[in-house]
Amino acid sequence: MRGTYDVAIIGGGVNGCGIARDAAGRGLSVFLCEMADLGSGTSSRSTKLIHGGLRYLEHLDFRLVRESLLEREVLWRIAPHIIQPMRFVLPHRQGMRPAWLLRMGLFLYDHLSGRERLPGTRTLDLTQDEAGSPLKPHAFATGFEYSDCWVDDARLVVLNARDAADRGAVIRTRTRAVEAKREGGKWWLTVEEDGRGTRETVAARTLVNAAGPWVGTVAHGPLGLRTAAHVRLVEGAHIVVPKLFDHDRAYLLQNPDGRVVFAIPYEQDLTLIGTTDRDFEGDPAETRAAPEEIAYLCDAVSSTFAKAVSPRDVLWSYSGVRPLIGDAASEAKSVSRDYVLEMDAAEGLAPLLSCIGGKITTYRKLAEAVLERLAPCLPQREGLPAGWTASTPLPGGEFGIDDFDAQVSGLRRTFPFLDPRQATRLVRAYGTHAKTILGSARTAADLGTAFGASLTEAEVRYLMGHEWARTAEDVVWRRTKLGLRMTPEEVGTLDQWMREAGAARGV
Ligand SMILES: Cc1cc2nc3c(=O)[nH]c(=O)nc-3n(C[C@H](O)[C@H](O)[C@H](O)COP(=O)(O)OP(=O)(O)OC[C@H]3O[C@@H](n4cnc5c(N)ncnc54)[C@H](O)[C@@H]3O)c2cc1C
Repeated sequence: MRGTYDVAIIGGGVNGCGIARDAAGRGLSVFLCEMADLGSGTSSRSTKLIHGGLRYLEHLDFRLVRESLLEREVLWRIAPHIIQPMRFVLPHRQGMRPAWLLRMGLFLYDHLSGRERLPGTRTLDLTQDEAGSPLKPHAFATGFEYSDCWVDDARLVVLNARDAADRGAVIRTRTRAVEAKREGGKWWLTVEEDGRGTRETVAARTLVNAAGPWVGTVAHGPLGLRTAAHVRLVEGAHIVVPKLFDHDRAYLLQNPDGRVVFAIPYEQDLTLIGTTDRDFEGDPAETRAAPEEIAYLCDAVSSTFAKAVSPRDVLWSYSGVRPLIGDAASEAKSVSRDYVLEMDAAEGLAPLLSCIGGKITTYRKLAEAVLERLAPCLPQREGLPAGWTASTPLPGGEFGIDDFDAQVSGLRRTFPFLDPRQATRLVRAYGTHAKTILGSARTAADLGTAFGASLTEAEVRYLMGHEWARTAEDVVWRRTKLGLRMTPEEVGTLDQWMREAGAARGV
């Protein structure tokens, strides 16, 4: 067994991987276990926005909104490949939230935010602006337009894990935490590898429960890592349909029930629509978009857009579960999205820190807060100072926020056989590391087996070797979204190929 880790983390979602990266960069020794694939929990099932959360202003969540707004440009700069700015159109008509209220909210949004590059709010004449044309004729004369950012959520998780591992962290996927004991001023965490059943116990000075919606299961199950917080699970569904409009702005739609629904340009020719909010019980891994949620989302867009959307148009749907702190009495949509860190420590005992709630947007700040709370129990190590993650690019993000197109052109110059769509996809996913994947290829054939939808053996080998991908599902639904393009037969062939390649590598 290796010596004692400084930090052991349960959960390989955005929060666990963000904490691992920050801690490893500070020179701390880190162990992270994820029971399934990285990001396979809530962190790949979000609306994929790096946003302040205009709606949270209604609940006077100023701390959360301000922290989130400030994070938008910070995250965009460290990951300009997987994060991009986006403009949001908020169509307005009588009977919705009053225009003065929206103007006030957007004014706060603009001014709380420390914006440098994201443009501010403007009012739109929807009878003239292109954004008005896909909407129901004569229904909306005015709209408001504001900025937020879009992120490939699942890749954000993996890039944090990759960087953590590059800085020395041990990242174990398909490895479940099954037992935790406090003894001799340390944690003794037993983990079990999926499929093999092999167990291993690691010692750590501090333990972090970053199990997302499983935070309660970890707290009250055999692990017994108790939290005092009342965790409420709230589920939200999304649907993907052929694109509803021909421009690159998103819409924020106000529903008669007071909820908001986003319609976001997605994967070049699709629209992502979400989300719902309802209380959830059961295993968060088993959550699916229910028929009534799909119908709700179809109705929300059909009442705003000229073209009606029906469940038959839905190409893909998914659902995620968030753990929120709150009493069951309030409506799910009104419970705060802020995070809480709960510390369980006493003299002579190794501390346990549980992370409850939060957003993709605030993962980096959450990681900083975790390390600040644990600092008194951690040794001083040679490493980067607190705050380093705000300015150090994630893997592949080592280029300026204005240089995305230049990256794509550069890739096409070096690899002229790539078609523009494939080159854009590769830069969007891997940034400067796209070149590593393509290596010395001179023709498309040099990239090996073509699995369909521009996925090649070279890319799959990279994902298996560098990004912990084990199954076709990891590749087509989390490292990429090529599951939207590939046939079930193609996915089956990929899965078989990966099994054989994995066995050959002894994985
Ligand atoms: C519908 C929806 C939409 C959202 N949209 C947005 C958005 O647009 N923007 C935004 O900022 N935020 C959004 N969020 C919030 C955001 O997705 C979550 O806050 C974030 O993903 C939580 O990350 P996490 O790491 O805490 O949890 P998770 O991603 O769920 O990670 C926890 C991990 O712990 C693992 N685990 C559990 N138990 C064990 C164990 N015993 N051993 C080992 N591993 C274990 C799980 O497998 C899982 O991978 C949304 C959430 C939902 C539900």
